[in-house]
Amino acid sequence: MIGTTKKPMTEILQALEGHDKVALVGCDGCAKVCLTGGTDEVAALSKDLEAQGKQVILEVTPERTCNVAKADPVLKPVQDKLQEADAVLVLGCGGAVQITRHLTEVYGLTIPVKTGLDSVGHMDTLVPGTLALEQCQECGQCILNETGGICPVTKCAKGLLEGPCGGAQDGKCEADLSRDCAWILIYNRMQALGELDKLKRYMGPKDYSKAARPRTLYIKEGRVT
Ligand code: SF4
Ligand code: SF4
Repeated sequence: MIGTTKKPMTEILQALEGHDKVALVGCDGCAKVCLTGGTDEVAALSKDLEAQGKQVILEVTPERTCNVAKADPVLKPVQDKLQEADAVLVLGCGGAVQITRHLTEVYGLTIPVKTGLDSVGHMDTLVPGTLALEQCQECGQCILNETGGICPVTKCAKGLLEGPCGGAQDGKCEADLSRDCAWILIYNRMQALGELDKLKRYMGPKDYSKAARPRTLYIKEGRVT
């Protein structure tokens, strides 16, 4: 999922300066899991905004706001409300914000679309409702087959590809002693799988051209440019 955190109210109010009528669009996908943009969080922010003198004229929460196929059927029927609003505030990831902005343009509306959240990476829940860890940076050249399904690009503080830096202390990363050293995790996993010999392979430099942006994914062809 895409991890999100709530922006401070001061920042939200700054973004909404001069915009009194607000339409709120949440996301019942990743933002719901992060407790930042599901139906409950939209309702709570609505109350807070009203307390700050804003008029919230719409609250909707598509199942996946980053997905046009899920967002359009929810937003299209409320175009009139969107048109009435001075601004749309989205509680979703950066993708959800941009898809909402895209749809308002498709509907012929010129309306500012703001975000109430910060997107913080491709996370997955470890302890539901409590803890999520970043899992992947979408580097475009996945090496999980060589590392026992543990990503050193994301989980090693130095992003080392060929093995540990040697600074680990009692299995913890020298850069953050609260976290396990990714390469010790990888070693232990490969040992348990009986695949330690694979770690002797030279991985070689990463092809950073695969991560060059902007990227376009041709879904039917499974091709990225
Ligand atoms: S190697 Fe790249 S694609 Fe694979 S999990 Fe790590 S960051 Fe993601
Ligand atoms: S201690 Fe381990 S996780 Fe931390 S930077 Fe070194 S190799 Fe990477």
